[in-house]
Amino acid sequence: MTRSLGGAELATTIRDDASGAAAALADLGIRPRLAVVLATDDESTAWYVRSIAAAAKRTGILCDIVDLGASATTGQIHGTLVELGHDPDVHGIILQTPLPDGTDLDALREAINPAKDIDGANPVSLGRLVARLPAFAPATARAVIALLDHHGISPHGRTAAVVGRSTVVGSPVANLLVQRNATVTVCHRHTTDLAAGTRDADILVVAVGIPGLVTAEHVADGAVVIDVGTTATTDGRLLGDVDAQAVDGRAGALTPVPGGVGPVTTALLIAHTVDAAAAQHAQHAQHAQTRSDSVLAGFRSGV
Ligand code: NAP
Repeated sequence: MTRSLGGAELATTIRDDASGAAAALADLGIRPRLAVVLATDDESTAWYVRSIAAAAKRTGILCDIVDLGASATTGQIHGTLVELGHDPDVHGIILQTPLPDGTDLDALREAINPAKDIDGANPVSLGRLVARLPAFAPATARAVIALLDHHGISPHGRTAAVVGRSTVVGSPVANLLVQRNATVTVCHRHTTDLAAGTRDADILVVAVGIPGLVTAEHVADGAVVIDVGTTATTDGRLLGDVDAQAVDGRAGALTPVPGGVGPVTTALLIAHTVDAAAAQHAQHAQHAQTRSDSVLAGFRSGV
């Protein structure tokens, strides 16, 4: 029998902790605020963004959905990101994909202020993650590790396979697993024999976006399988990349879709925003202290 690795309980714990931290910031007059920049009329994206806004509200943080419309240009989105980056009342920024055809996603990711980059989209954040320096990891990648931890599954010394190598999910997950001392194989579109890359892994993370791509032949007996994939169907269902029926009884554990990685990702986006607000407040306080120290030093020296 395959064990189900649900994310709801962990998501609640993360949101409750964030709620407590947000309340402590409120006592200092700070209300964490997240801005989600959107430029699509894709309904499943709109649904996802609304779920972030609802989670933010439940946690006591503000969330602005900045909808620029499906015909927004790179220049318009860039201008908005720069403005939000300078706005002292905004602590976290998400640039929601997909963006309109022809927009320069790389340039836009670089326009996100790294201090507010709570979904680790700016290459600076990813570079710092790889260099093992403090940074916001992409929330989904962190959610995968948090789910393993929550269910008592340690990657240490285990073999892992990650299917997908995007900069938002596959690559950072692979990196975080290596940091947790797993030995990791990364598979992608050009992997000639996917099953050969995955079927010996103790931990298999799938982040592709092709429903049912992973079946029993890809999974080792007793493996832990984390299904990151989410594909929305026209009749309102959400499908994972793993054929849950096919791997049932073979996988030792599997995350459900929906209800696995997704809720933990959303909760972490909220928690990251609260952390960003606290860090920005601490930095402002430090600057203010440094300024007042230098004014006092000026008085004392008669300057
Ligand atoms: P993406 O940018 O489209 O990347 C997909 C990756 O899958 C690419 O690295 C691609 O390889 C690889 N791939 C494509 N076809 C493949 C195949 N036949 N065999 C092996 N690998 C293949 O997607 P993403 O943003 O990483 O998202 C992946 C999935 O996770 C999507 O379903 C997305 O909706 C979901 N997601 C879920 C959450 C959540 O919170 N649950 C959050 C984010 C994303 P190449 O690099 O060679 O093209």
